[in-house]
Amino acid sequence: MVCFYHPDKPAVGLCKYCQRGLCTECAASAGDSLACTDLHEEQVRAMEALMKRNLVQAQRAGSDYVRNTIFYGVVGALFTAFGASQLNWLGLQAVVYMLIGVALLWAALANYLESRKYK
Ligand SMILES: [Zn+2]
Ligand SMILES: [Zn+2]
Repeated sequence: MVCFYHPDKPAVGLCKYCQRGLCTECAASAGDSLACTDLHEEQVRAMEALMKRNLVQAQRAGSDYVRNTIFYGVVGALFTAFGASQLNWLGLQAVVYMLIGVALLWAALANYLESRKYK
């Protein structure tokens, strides 16, 4: 592979924006990537910033799932325990509480499994 702008020079990398080969003279470093000097530096820097932001958002979403797991788990356990303790007095109503509790525990499990994807 040779430099797109200097066909007589070997390329050291690709511009992240236009995927053209760049020699040491043409390659500008933009963040973790290379860009055509004075041509695509801004674009590549913008792409890098966008990717970093996506990464931060994914991490935030991951911690949201952990928080949801704890929330649904605690509330679900309370509903289930309450329903079980009231079973003799409330009958069908207690069963409904227990069903809500189980549904919440199920949601907690789903959130827990989802949170593991982000690790
Ligand atoms: Zn370029
Ligand atoms: Zn060049």
